[in-house]
Amino acid sequence: MITLSRIEKSFDGNRVLKNINLTIEEGTVTTLIGPSGSGKSTLLRCINLLEIPQSGELTIGKERITFTPDARIKGQDIRRISRQTGMVFQNFALFPHMTALDNITEGLITVHKWDRERARRRGEELLNKVGMLHKRDALPNTLSGGQQQRVAIARALAPSPAVLLCDEPTSALDPELSGEVVAVLRQLALEGTTMIMATHDLRLAANIASQVVFLEAGEIVESGSANDLFLHAKKPRTAEFIASLS
Ligand code: ATP
Ligand code: MG
Repeated sequence: MITLSRIEKSFDGNRVLKNINLTIEEGTVTTLIGPSGSGKSTLLRCINLLEIPQSGELTIGKERITFTPDARIKGQDIRRISRQTGMVFQNFALFPHMTALDNITEGLITVHKWDRERARRRGEELLNKVGMLHKRDALPNTLSGGQQQRVAIARALAPSPAVLLCDEPTSALDPELSGEVVAVLRQLALEGTTMIMATHDLRLAANIASQVVFLEAGEIVESGSANDLFLHAKKPRTAEFIASLS
């Protein structure tokens, strides 16, 4: 289980996340929806600790970290938490000078200290899973956006993180390329991969999610099943937002 309790994040006094409380059960998919600037990316970045909240508490499985405004968080505590997570970015963020396979094995070898042979086997297993084994030796700039994103997903999954965080994984892609990435994400969801995904794609959000969270101005306005939010929103703001996009 992942829990966020009373998470607060400000940039220069600007409160970007306000009293965020959220529970994510293992094996479920949570999608974050909300207007541009509502704090979706920041929330994801506060889970892998690319951003450090000013206060609150985060637990991922057995790992727990408490944030206080006056205490510096130790590097080893950041690593202890961030290693529980894998991140997929909107713009893929592959290492441009490395093949698809090397993109996956690099972190396993340098960060997780796997031997090369074990890393290669894991890399090939994951490339196969995302339908990219035939492009094992290709450089990112020779791949389509959808192919690059599938390699990026394989890379994020390589060390078997407790949670896969996806920040708008399909929004840089044309509809036909986004379909192949959605298919991979849906398969991962069916296999019980715990995921938290920010997306502007309400169809994807509704399709894949066990829990949908609507954020506005740094606050969780409403959360529930896709059915609850999309068809029976309790808060007028939720219904207005969904109507504005559909
Ligand atoms: P989008 O849908 O456009 O991706 P978002 O919901 O992901 O938006 P965030 O990127 O989390 O929104 O931004 C939330 C707010 O935090 C915005 O007002 C943004 O300007 C601010 N913000 C985010 N990162 C920083 C930063 N590093 N420094 C200062 N302000 C930031
Ligand atoms: Mg964002």
